[in-house]
Amino acid sequence: MDSKNSVMMQRDLEVIWHPCTQMKDHETLPLIPIKSGKGVYLYDFEGNSYIDAVSSWWVNLFGHANETINKKIKEQIDELEHVLLAGFTHEPAIELAHKLVNITPETLKKVFYVDNGSSAVEAALKMSYHYHLNLGKRKPLFLSLTNSYHGETIGALSVGDVSLYKETYEPLLIANMQVPVPKDQSLDAAKDALKILEEVLKERAGEIAALILEPLIQGAGGMHMYHSDYLRGARELTQKYDIHLIADEIMTGFGRTGKMFACEYANISPDFMTLSKGLTGGYLPLSVVMTTNSVYNAFYCDYNEYKAFLHSHSYTGNPLACSAALATLEIFEQNDVLAENEKKQRYIYEKLKVFKSLPHVKEIRQQGMVAAIELKGYEVKDRIGLRIYEYALTQGVLLRPLGHIIYFMPPYTIAYDEIDKMIQVAYNGIQRITS
Ligand code: PMP
Repeated sequence: MDSKNSVMMQRDLEVIWHPCTQMKDHETLPLIPIKSGKGVYLYDFEGNSYIDAVSSWWVNLFGHANETINKKIKEQIDELEHVLLAGFTHEPAIELAHKLVNITPETLKKVFYVDNGSSAVEAALKMSYHYHLNLGKRKPLFLSLTNSYHGETIGALSVGDVSLYKETYEPLLIANMQVPVPKDQSLDAAKDALKILEEVLKERAGEIAALILEPLIQGAGGMHMYHSDYLRGARELTQKYDIHLIADEIMTGFGRTGKMFACEYANISPDFMTLSKGLTGGYLPLSVVMTTNSVYNAFYCDYNEYKAFLHSHSYTGNPLACSAALATLEIFEQNDVLAENEKKQRYIYEKLKVFKSLPHVKEIRQQGMVAAIELKGYEVKDRIGLRIYEYALTQGVLLRPLGHIIYFMPPYTIAYDEIDKMIQVAYNGIQRITS
């Protein structure tokens, strides 16, 4: 008789086209139907458990079925599930916006609600371009860093630089240009990259609306990390040459890098900050573009003078999602999450040393609650990450390597023995598959 898991898998594959997947892989690779989750664990229909070592695509901060977040959403659902945000408003959106203004860098005073990460990036790009236009300047070009990732809608894809996602759609993209990301975490690499940024700005700043970057960690670009001095320098240069700085903290925000926002490492305040993922603790789609009063005021006028910012999405600022976000911030307020994370980060750092002995390990890097092990000696076609993923699943751990980069980005609530297991399974997997 077919198992419950395989019945679910067959029914799924009849009708669902999955994201980021070559669907033919599932002829041999099992799809895992998840029935429930609790804490760091996901459970399938046969009771097998998996440690969610990637926080379900980097969204989950405080575990699955978190009591505080569940409670808040349940309360909200009986009050108001949704209302449009044009001409109307609601308490969760108001309270959340005030809290976000209070905790983000000081010049960010206005919150524009969107509903997923890519759409937040789209809105920030449009706002930046439109701001300059309202001031009488046409600046149709965006600058970003090599190896960056900002989402997969056309605008967001344009400012990204991961060829796996971008190459095919090249003819469809908006005007964009890349400058080199610092090649590693050293100060020298940051200085070298800043020199090139300044050369480009000297020549082209007149056409460029904004520089967009992922502060400190390029996530989908293989957990590539760089020094905070690059951020400081990029802020100075963008101000000097009168272009916006968009800090895409969709992955790095809400404590992931060790501080609440990665920009804090450089003590900078960008013109725009995009937030999503951890914003709702991993519960519901929601995103925001935070910006300054100066940007906001460039759109504030009588109806026909300039165009208002007419961007909108149906589920903008959904009350359930805002409630999940308020509960997430409440957890931060009532617990010293960053101090607890600091201890776990140090523990993970010590544990990672074991990987140094493996011959195929090229580099081990860590920033806050993100750690990555880069392997060497493999080509894309070897699909080394996929093989490690498959092995880890048999051992009850959900790792989802980015090619030859094996990384850990667990919920902050992971316990020390669960960290041990997550790391041991990755170690065993790399050892077995690379030897
Ligand atoms: N920006 C960054 C830095 C991201 O990591 C991601 C998602 N991985 C996005 C934007 C896009 O977010 P979403 O998947 O919600 O569209």
